[in-house]
Amino acid sequence: MVAHTLRGTIEMEVGQKEEFMFRNLIAPVQAWLLSQGQCVGCGMPLAQGFSHTKSDGMEIVTCKCGRGYVKLSEHKYRRAKQSEL
Ligand SMILES: [Zn+2]
Repeated sequence: MVAHTLRGTIEMEVGQKEEFMFRNLIAPVQAWLLSQGQCVGCGMPLAQGFSHTKSDGMEIVTCKCGRGYVKLSEHKYRRAKQSEL
């Protein structure tokens, strides 16, 4: 029982480390894509995405790949939180 729990903990820690390294590598690329007004997942220009304005005036752009973005200004976007979609 104790050994089982220990093994699970180690595997979880390794998984988190790998994810952290992956994020370190991928984050600058995603930030660059977003600064170009492109989707971080598929590179599609977000101007071509499906956009709709919410009741609070926030403009949400949904890419064809399903990722959601908040349009801040012309050609300026940020990733939308799940609660904002
Ligand atoms: Zn996309």
